[in-house]
Order: sequence, then structure tokens, then C-alpha cells
Amino acid sequence: LTKRIRDAVDRLRGRGRISEEELKSTLREIRRALIDADVNLEVARAFVQKVEAEALGQKVLESLTPAEQILSLVYEALTEALGGEASQPALRSEGNLWFLVGLQGSGKTTTAAKLARYYKEKGRRPLLVAADTQRPAAREQLRILGEKVGVPVLEVADREPPEVTQRRIQEAVRQGARDLVLVDTAGRLQIDEALMEELARLKRVLQPTETLLVLDAMTGQEALSVARAFDEKIGVSGLVLTKLDGDARGGAALSARHVTGKPIYFVGVSERPEGLEAFYPDRMASRILGMGDLATLAEKVKALQVEEAPKKAKELSLEDFLAQLKQVKRLGSFSELLALLPGLPKEMRNLSVDDRALARLEAILLSMTPEERKNPRILNGSRRKRIARGSGTTVQEVNRLLKSFEEARDLAKRLEKTKGRGFFRR
Ligand code: GDP
Ligand code: MG
Repeated sequence: LTKRIRDAVDRLRGRGRISEEELKSTLREIRRALIDADVNLEVARAFVQKVEAEALGQKVLESLTPAEQILSLVYEALTEALGGEASQPALRSEGNLWFLVGLQGSGKTTTAAKLARYYKEKGRRPLLVAADTQRPAAREQLRILGEKVGVPVLEVADREPPEVTQRRIQEAVRQGARDLVLVDTAGRLQIDEALMEELARLKRVLQPTETLLVLDAMTGQEALSVARAFDEKIGVSGLVLTKLDGDARGGAALSARHVTGKPIYFVGVSERPEGLEAFYPDRMASRILGMGDLATLAEKVKALQVEEAPKKAKELSLEDFLAQLKQVKRLGSFSELLALLPGLPKEMRNLSVDDRALARLEAILLSMTPEERKNPRILNGSRRKRIARGSGTTVQEVNRLLKSFEEARDLAKRLEKTKGRGFFRR
């Protein structure tokens, strides 16, 4: 409810427009929020610039505060930048081979087991491959996880050549009728040329249908350089972001997506095999901006944009007037809202008058026929008298309403002439 109060009060202030100055300072705040959420500096800057360009071309919605509208624009743009819709890796009926790459400790082995479990539940027949040719302990880790999720694990030997590994995989796939091979690879703590070459070679031989880069969301800023290096040296087709159950703020998602342009398919949300979820760009956008109610706000803006479809001033009618009034009413009673505000000056309490005035206006409008509302010019003396009687008001009040409607329409016409199309002041 506090938000609604804020809306209502801001509207009372009558700030329908936003200056470029205000826009800039709001966007500065947003850039700060993005960087706080671990988004890479360069990425945050590029993103905010894009939003600014978009905002300048936008019409300001009367029923939202400028800050809210910008936030909602940012939220939408962020969702878009994170991929828009949720997407899944390509999966054919058979012959799927997915390559998992990433730095040591990013969560490759864990993710391989999680994916095996995830797709086994969906009726697939996965095969796990422990392809770390240098560390037996790494292979053992996958063997144990494979047992846990009930999926067979093929272990490569020390320094096994890729061609041999390929043959062994083909053999295991045929024997076990496996339709999804998940290859866990070796990692290093840092980007390492020798390792990159080894991985690139294994990839060339195995010809994976997907190459998933596993990124630790906790690394934040570093995600950008890691993603760039792996994409350049090995080529990735999609991303998995792990450890989002911790304090990670999700900025790594935007950075990684920005430099690779590749979809984020999954997120890791716990150490356990079931801790894998599909990635939803809109939820991540909320998380990054740290505002739970942004999705709701965006919906509200969308709904209003439909209602406020551009209309020429000369097309405005009392129907629009009535629609506006209903929108205001949706917020609840002004006096009720104001009463909830602590420390409000006494003289503002008598705004309860407004409630009654609004009710009378609505009564007048509802006493008209739709034809009269669409075409107020036909409202002659006898019609006005009928409306006053029907609404329990007076002819003077009906006249006053018609007069203010005409004034509003004239104002809209004048604005149309002088302002052109940009609703933001420039
Ligand atoms: P690898 O070196 O890339 O194979 O990384 P591991 O799979 O061995 O994971 C490294 C550590 O991160 C392990 O302790 C995992 O349990 C942990 N881990 C992996 N994914 C997640 C996750 O989504 N959430 C949490 N909390 N821990 C994870
Ligand atoms: Mg590992």
C-alpha cells in the first residue's frame, strides 16, 4: 500500500513530465545499482546508455512517477539484455553431446551431475564422461556423483588422447543406448593457454552439440574476462551460472551474456544434485535491481500503455474523461491514502472534499448516454437538465464539467502543436 500512496502523492504534485536532467540522475543511480550487483563497469555503462536513448523517445505516463517509469524501462531492458525469454539447450532425440567447460571450482563437475539427474527425470538416458586427463581425484568425484544420481560414468585414463576418448564414448553410447553425453572437463584456477589448447583439441574431436560454459556467479566482475576468454579460445554455445544460492547478486549473468551473446540456460542454486533450475531473465533482472515488485510495476506500465494509446487531441471525448476518473479511483480514496501519511499538514486533511467531488463527476458522466459522452456537442439545455437530475447534481455542475473538459482538450491541442512527439523535455 505504501507504494500506492507514493504514486498518489506524486501524482498530486502533478509531475507529468521529466527533464533530461532528472532522467540522467535517475540513470546514474541505476548504473550504481548495477555495479553494486557485480555488473561489469563497461557493461553497465553500455546498458544505461541504451536505456537513456530509449527513454528520451518515450512518452511519460501520467499515472506513474517518472522514476517509476524509468525503473520499469530499465527492468524491461535488463530482462531483454539477459535474453528475454527463458531458453533451453538444443536437444535431439539422440546424438547429443554436451561439453562442460570453465575454471576450476566453477561447478562443472557438480553441474554435470545435476544435468544428468535433470534430464534423467525427463526420461533421457544420459552418460557422464569424466574427461579430466590429469587429475584422478576429479574423475573420482564425478564417479561418486554419478552413482548418487544413478547415471553411468565413463572415466578417461591419464593423458588419454581425444581420439581414444571419442571411440570409448561411441562404444558406451551404443551399448547403453545413451542419448545425452555430458562431458566434464578439466579446469584451472586461471585462464591457462595449455589447458585451452587441450580443451579446444578435445572439442574438435568430440564435436559437441552444445558447449556450456560454467560460471561461478560469486566471481562477479571476473565473469566477464572468463567468459570472453573461453568464448574466444573454445567457443561456447550457452552458459550455466552456479552458486546463485549464496550472496551472488547476479551481475555476472549480465556481463557474461553481454560479451558472449549466448543464452544462459541454467542456474545452480545449491550444492546438491537437485539444485539446478532453468534460467529466467525477468527474475534475474529483478534480482539485479534488487526490487521485488518490479515485475508488477512493468505489468502496470504495459497495461497503461495500452490504455494510453496515442490519441489526437481532437479525438478526445468524455469517454476518456470517464476512463481517467476510473483509473484515479482504482487507487482508492485520496483522503484515505492521505490519512495514512504521517506528519501531513492539517490543511491537507480537508482533501476529503476531493473524494466527493470525484464521485459527483463520475455520477454526471455515468448519467450521460455513451453517445453523449462520445460527442459532447449534442449536449443541449434539456439534455443537461436531464443529466443533472439523473446524477443528483445541478446544471451548473454539469456545465462546469463540460467546460473543464473543453479546456483540457484545448490544452492538449496546444501541446500537440508546440511539442511535437517527444514527451520528454529536451
Ligand atoms: P569444478 O572444479 O568446476 O568441477 O567445480 P565443482 O563441481 O567441483 O564445484 C566446486 C564447489 O562448488 C563444490 O564444493 C561444489 O559443491 C560447489 N558448488 C557447485 N555448484 C554450486 C551451487 O550451485 N551452489 C553452491 N552453493 N555450491 C555449488
Ligand atoms: Mg571438476
